[in-house]
Amino acid sequence: GDRRLRLPPWLKRDIPLGDAQYLKMKSQLRGLKLATVCEEARCPNIGECWGGGPDSPSTATIMLMGDTCTRGCRFCSVKTSRAPAPLDPDEPVNTAKAIAAWGVEYIVLTSVDRDDLPDGGSEHFAKTVGELKRHCPHVLVECLVPDFRGNVEQIHRLALSGMDVYAHNIETVRRLTPSVRDPRAKYDQSLEALREAKRVNPSLVTKSSIMLGLGETDDEVRGAMEDLRAADVDAVTLGQYMQPTKRHLLVKEFVTPEKFAQWEAVGKQLGFLYTASGPLVRSSYKAGEFFLRNVLT
Ligand code: SF4
Ligand code: SF4
Repeated sequence: GDRRLRLPPWLKRDIPLGDAQYLKMKSQLRGLKLATVCEEARCPNIGECWGGGPDSPSTATIMLMGDTCTRGCRFCSVKTSRAPAPLDPDEPVNTAKAIAAWGVEYIVLTSVDRDDLPDGGSEHFAKTVGELKRHCPHVLVECLVPDFRGNVEQIHRLALSGMDVYAHNIETVRRLTPSVRDPRAKYDQSLEALREAKRVNPSLVTKSSIMLGLGETDDEVRGAMEDLRAADVDAVTLGQYMQPTKRHLLVKEFVTPEKFAQWEAVGKQLGFLYTASGPLVRSSYKAGEFFLRNVLT
């Protein structure tokens, strides 16, 4: 049967410690009542993402619309329920005020999927972007959004909300989609959502992410990257899938750092604005720095 693979040496390396900027961000956060995915998921990239510098805007990720998802993807450790708690109507303005007070330079807003709500939570999500741009117009905003079941009105609402980067993850290659993502998620529906966001607002940077190590072949990965480019997606990230608990999908392969470097080169060949690829890369990994280097210059 399937066995758990041993962790390879490149994933056992020491996590980079944060610099002075990281420590400042960490202490400023206390008392702000702002829960970050970076801290809650104990992300190994926190020192790099929060740490800053002239060429490296600090990046952090916040989760909106509660901690309970209506879907149950087999790689994801977020709680699932058919009827999560109602939305907090004060969340958009409170989130915006806390982010303005914090001083982070690039914020990634993500959310659970809320298939229980008539508008998928799109109004609430878009409102949060609006409040952010009102309270801290200098902060760059990336939104990692649900597929909204392909609902064009909801996709447009987000795409026109004032965000800078529209992200939606295909997560895996076409063939593995039904066994990796919730059955309501569809490979082509996700590509279509990305294409539609870009079509209705061409000034957006669109972005998607693929996890490796789930049993996909090289041809399939290349195919997924080509499909993203064909949907006008501007940026792609590739990272190693890590099994969150024993009840989740097993890791089929630990992809080597060299292989990740090859995918980065493929991304460049295919014409992506930028490609972030590495064992520890998450879709929000140093997103501010990639944006500054490749979009603003
Ligand atoms: Fe936070 Fe994402 Fe960076 Fe991890 S990769 S520290 S979750 S912004
Ligand atoms: Fe996790 Fe997103 Fe899937 Fe919900 S839709 S289970 S939050 S990956």
